[in-house]
Amino acid sequence: MITSNPTPWQPDAWQNQVRSAFRNPGDLLEHLGLKHLTPAGLAGFPMLAPRSFVERIVHGDPQDALLLQVLPQLQETEEHAGFVRDPLGETNSDQAFIKSPGLIQKYQGRALMITTPACAINCRYCFRRHFPYQQHRPRDRDLALAFLRRDASISEIILSGGDPLLMQDSELALLLASLAQIEHIKRIRIHTRLPIVVPQRITFELMQTLAESPAKVVVVIHSNHHQELNAETKNALDCLGQSGATLLNQSVLLRGINDNVNDLVLLSERLFEQGVLPYYLHLPDKVANTAHFYVDTDRGQALYGGMKSRLPGYLLPRLVREVAGDIAKREMSTEDLALVADPPANLPQALALTPAPAPHPDR
Ligand code: SF4
Repeated sequence: MITSNPTPWQPDAWQNQVRSAFRNPGDLLEHLGLKHLTPAGLAGFPMLAPRSFVERIVHGDPQDALLLQVLPQLQETEEHAGFVRDPLGETNSDQAFIKSPGLIQKYQGRALMITTPACAINCRYCFRRHFPYQQHRPRDRDLALAFLRRDASISEIILSGGDPLLMQDSELALLLASLAQIEHIKRIRIHTRLPIVVPQRITFELMQTLAESPAKVVVVIHSNHHQELNAETKNALDCLGQSGATLLNQSVLLRGINDNVNDLVLLSERLFEQGVLPYYLHLPDKVANTAHFYVDTDRGQALYGGMKSRLPGYLLPRLVREVAGDIAKREMSTEDLALVADPPANLPQALALTPAPAPHPDR
């Protein structure tokens, strides 16, 4: 049931946040008392940092974990072997993941819809920073819906992007209504960073839209650091919870941002305080222009072991890596690695956890 408390935001508050976002590195550095630093170029990926997120950056700290997620760095211009534009093979025609413009299916029973190319924040490590959004336009959505109607094996739709909550409430309501007419779709999963970076996005209209969905709604938020979670995100997440959505979080393990046990433990604990269960901790993808964020498997596992020793099981996200062509994400916990060392002879190739010849990590 939706009550009047906690309080959702006014309908135009989030649009103002998106409109007033920082787009120029020099302006952002000056705002944060760092104008003595020389801004780096954009490396082909615009900067976008909403003010509500920027307010959580520690003034005067060039190494702030939130700042480094949005500020272009000189390292982005470097080339590194193995770091490619499409690490997950999402647009690789050999993989045949694209079912129609804007519809990607990598795993059985689930399909992912590119709802919009836009985000409220540009995360410098983004695995879709090179994605050809112009080939996946929202106006082709009818083709995606037609495919979904025909394929009764699909029971879950993942709304992705970009960020699906950048759609206006009316557009989202229309999409949910169209999906509701497809009887075999039982769950709608929304992958969004907006409740974290622009908490004002959680309006009463959005809560109502989600509450009225006949299909069960799961909202997977994306928070990488406990410093991102404040009173405003708590209010936003409380509102989302009131709409009846199940709330989960996915994070990316990022060098210089959250690659230490203390910060990862604090993130899990604070997420739980805000009504969200940690779901995935992704080893980063090998995305071109993002090598400076990369954390390798050994280090990821060592950090995960530290988390495991300090957290109850329900606050421990699953450490995963995605490899193009696999039938599911690879679990990268140390137990799974024991399996790598001695895989059963009859283990199907697709399930074997040994590294593939051309690894394409991530989500
Ligand atoms: S919000 Fe998600 S899709 Fe958008 S830039 Fe960040 S990681 Fe990429």
